[in-house]
Amino acid sequence: MIRVENLKKYFPVKRTVGEILLRVPQRFVKAVDGISFTISKGETFGLVGESGSGKTTTGRLMLRLIEPTAGKIFFEDVDVTQLSKDELRKFRKNFQIIFQDPMAALNPYMKVGEAIKHGLEIHNIGGSNMERKKLVMEMLERVNLSPPEDFYYRYPHEISGGQRQRIVIARALILKPKFVVADEAIAMLDVSVRSQLLQLLIDLKNEFNLTFLFITHDLATTKYICNKIGVMYLGKIVEIGKFREIYNEPLHPYTKALISAVPEPDPKKKKKKLIPEGEVPNPINPPPGCKFHPRCPFAMDICKTVEPELKEVNGRLIACHLY
Ligand code: SF4
Repeated sequence: MIRVENLKKYFPVKRTVGEILLRVPQRFVKAVDGISFTISKGETFGLVGESGSGKTTTGRLMLRLIEPTAGKIFFEDVDVTQLSKDELRKFRKNFQIIFQDPMAALNPYMKVGEAIKHGLEIHNIGGSNMERKKLVMEMLERVNLSPPEDFYYRYPHEISGGQRQRIVIARALILKPKFVVADEAIAMLDVSVRSQLLQLLIDLKNEFNLTFLFITHDLATTKYICNKIGVMYLGKIVEIGKFREIYNEPLHPYTKALISAVPEPDPKKKKKKLIPEGEVPNPINPPPGCKFHPRCPFAMDICKTVEPELKEVNGRLIACHLY
């Protein structure tokens, strides 16, 4: 349903006046550096990695909230990167995003019911004002904000963080999108409401037959919702495959480290933590060869000079010279 081909996003680094005068060449942060993957209809694809790996930029590129430097994004065979502004506006109803911070995503001066209804007005869904209001009430009930009249007329600051995120979910889903990007959608919420929101997303995904891109730094949550995952490191995908297979037997050293850090609920099953040494390198000046080599316990000489390509190993794709 969605195919991403060699997608790139390079952000220019601001130069100082001195650098301009000295004609220092323009440098770039390669936030997303040539990634490819597909998401099938009804699938939930988890994009995981530490902060700064390029996950959020990828999500925004896929909805064309930002323009790619290069690459293609096909949605049901339509090349989204080639749509004009007008075509994109009409097409956008198919894609929605649930941001991490619901407070920032909502207009503080707009009642939450009106905020949800606004999307229906923009896309001319629902006919009359009364019909639109009825649709909003039904959606509020569906995201468990009940009775809906109690929520429709409130402002974002008058409800809790968990309720605000339910409003953001309602606003996204009322347009009946086909594809939803959930960008760290539960990360900012209290631990007590995270599991409820995750369950709500799972229920809605099944009910509306949604295709999801679930962006998270927290691999523990992906096991409840993702069929497939892609692991990102410094703008590159280093491993892609079925969630269960990767989770049970990670092959890439970086994936191994991420999975070893997931807390084990059973105290009898102690896991050895493989914490990569050092910090994520500066993305303006990434290391040559495999970008993970300065932190990798298995690094070999070749890793310092030759960048590994993604290749198929046991039915999944891995970028590592060990395979
Ligand atoms: Fe480690 Fe080398 Fe594999 Fe990179 S290519 S993950 S440095 S073993």
